[in-house]
Amino acid sequence: MKFVDEYRDQAQAEQLAQAIARITTRPWSIMEVCGGQTHSIVKYGIDELLPKQISLLHGPGCPVCVTPLEIVDKALQIAARPEVTFCSFGDMLRVPGSGGDLFSVKAKGGDVRIVYSPLDALKLARENPQRQVVFFAVGFETTAPANAMAVFQAHAQKIPNFSVLVSQVLVPPAIAALLSAPDNRTQGFLAAGHVCTVMGFEEYFQLAKKYRVPIVVTGFEPFDILQGILMCVRQLEAGRAEVENQYARSVQREGNLPAQALMAKVFRVVSRKWRGVGEIPMSGYGLTDEFSAYDAELRFGVAGNHVDEDSECISGQVLRGVKKPHECPAFGVRCTPERPLGATMVSSEGACAAYHRYRRRQPDKHPPAEQG
Ligand code: SF4
Repeated sequence: MKFVDEYRDQAQAEQLAQAIARITTRPWSIMEVCGGQTHSIVKYGIDELLPKQISLLHGPGCPVCVTPLEIVDKALQIAARPEVTFCSFGDMLRVPGSGGDLFSVKAKGGDVRIVYSPLDALKLARENPQRQVVFFAVGFETTAPANAMAVFQAHAQKIPNFSVLVSQVLVPPAIAALLSAPDNRTQGFLAAGHVCTVMGFEEYFQLAKKYRVPIVVTGFEPFDILQGILMCVRQLEAGRAEVENQYARSVQREGNLPAQALMAKVFRVVSRKWRGVGEIPMSGYGLTDEFSAYDAELRFGVAGNHVDEDSECISGQVLRGVKKPHECPAFGVRCTPERPLGATMVSSEGACAAYHRYRRRQPDKHPPAEQG
């Protein structure tokens, strides 16, 4: 298949792995930010192709995984209301809240539906004016333009029975929080190509300079990831800390300007809680005052609800690259995809789900490099 097969070519992948091995002189720890990249790495065994000095850390870029427990609980409360039709992408339905998940609300008679776009939820609201239709607006910068468009159109078309439960988070503040943490082990980043397709990569220059880390905007296929690692290792070995773009076939420095303009109209930057990590200042979106009438938290009176995270799930450490999934005592025992304790075991982009699916249950062959 064109634009896929050439990026999965085994001979090319091996050449890139050899090129990385040739230039690597000491241990390096590199974090792939995105859960989609994590799944490619584990699925294709990319980490096992690398020289033993290179350790890949899995980052916080799985939107389902970082959605905090209290937002999931708010979703459960809203979805259980008799007047509500609650719409979500499918992967949020099995994410455990404090007292069940959205599937369990549906099983008890709640009107919970899987949709493939926020515009499908808006259509439902238009066609069912007697129902309160709520869309669960979860995600990184990648989902924000479509979610902003749904709210913008609801406003323009005067559809008052539509609202969104917003859990939008942003990558650059999360990278800054990781790099500021005392237990940080990451020395270089593979930034998420699809996020940068929307936002560009202007914001990363300041991070690379402030924290002295190379950041390589990277795609998702094995060839992309290996090339991103090669570019990152070249910088690390040369003592450089620059922003480079491996994913030039999709990403431009300024990103998608019309999408950014729409997002700036509908959303404002706010502090957000990340599951297992805690609150990160100015790390997400909330609705602007002009569109606050579409805020489901305000409409259904759940904005002030706060919930503590489950202490058994160590997904916060997994999402910060401090621990690998199989280092969690519950992994594969008390926590499985069928009976998950945390969102990282549920999501199609979750690191725990990837390790479980591709049977990575052994100690890491490439333990992370010590800093210094
Ligand atoms: S294996 Fe389960 S309990 Fe452990 S970190 Fe992953 S999701 Fe949480």
